[in-house]
Amino acid sequence: MKKWMVIAIAGAMLTLAGCGASTGGNQAESTTNGGNAATSETPKIGVAIYKFDDTFMTGVRNAMTAAADGKAELDIVDSQNAQPTQNEKVDLFISKKYKAMAINPVDRTAAGVIIDKAKAADIPVVFLNREPIAEDMNKWDKVYYVGAKAEESGTISGQIIVDYWKANPKADKNGDGVLQYVMLKGEPGHQDAELRTKFSVQAIQDAGIKVEALAEDTAMWDRVKGQEKMQTFLASNGDKIEAVLANNDDMGLGAIEALKAAGYFKGDKYMPVVSVDATAPAIQALQDGTLLGTVLNDAKNQGAATVALATVLAKGETPTKENTSYDITDGKYVWIAYKKITKDNIADAQQ
Ligand code: BGC
Ligand code: CA
Repeated sequence: MKKWMVIAIAGAMLTLAGCGASTGGNQAESTTNGGNAATSETPKIGVAIYKFDDTFMTGVRNAMTAAADGKAELDIVDSQNAQPTQNEKVDLFISKKYKAMAINPVDRTAAGVIIDKAKAADIPVVFLNREPIAEDMNKWDKVYYVGAKAEESGTISGQIIVDYWKANPKADKNGDGVLQYVMLKGEPGHQDAELRTKFSVQAIQDAGIKVEALAEDTAMWDRVKGQEKMQTFLASNGDKIEAVLANNDDMGLGAIEALKAAGYFKGDKYMPVVSVDATAPAIQALQDGTLLGTVLNDAKNQGAATVALATVLAKGETPTKENTSYDITDGKYVWIAYKKITKDNIADAQQ
């Protein structure tokens, strides 16, 4: 931009600002000074994410930023996967007198400590993605949780395998009538890891299919670890594996890398892989025909609901369906629905 243009624009802005100030009154203020006036009124909310380096949580974080636009001022920090670091961040939010906090706990069993701190400072807190135990949730009435029912995602991913098994007689590679599978688990203790593991297998059994777990191990939600664990599974079980269940897309995509290296997805060498999240790279894998199916873990609505609740709480109000546009269950939970995604309904996952 040319220097004279900068001066001209600055001049015009000054004139406008001056105009607003001299005219006074509400109308002038909202038209000329609208942006600034809104900012000074938008509440400050401290947000601590368990770690920034997580594909799904990055989606939630971006959704939160978008949802807060013009409504709240978010201070989003990285807890770097360390609970002591997160506790320090919470102390900082409290010392800055933020009006509300949104916390994605590193260790969900540590939520009680955070609630005690929040309650003492009278700063409402909305937890997300990692569900505190009920006992902690009941410690204070200004504590909320936004998440998704983990068992639902487990059931849906199991059903994707069931559909494949029923439609493809050759899926039973050794013809023994039993589905031999391997499981890539998320972080132990995380409700999504425990319940997706349990309910995915349950859904397969409920469909009348016998199962045999060849191997199960945690890959900590991580793509590289997923690849390494899958290499190990392949080394010890080789062709015996008939399906791969992964608790999230990143681990499923890691497994696909290992499978590709072992010659899968070429010719008729195929392996059904299912996971959860429906991240952009997972959608790409669905399109490529490597990933069989995933389950939409709705980052957009989880982020938007968290911001909606925190903003209402920051204003000293009680969240309701009317002021947040989300259903509130048992006075403190917002449950965002999961959705089955295969290559037939990819559009449903593109938020
Ligand atoms: C997601 C994972 C993510 C984890 C983080 C889960 O709901 O499916 O991809 O790593 O949350 O807590
Ligand atoms: Ca078999």
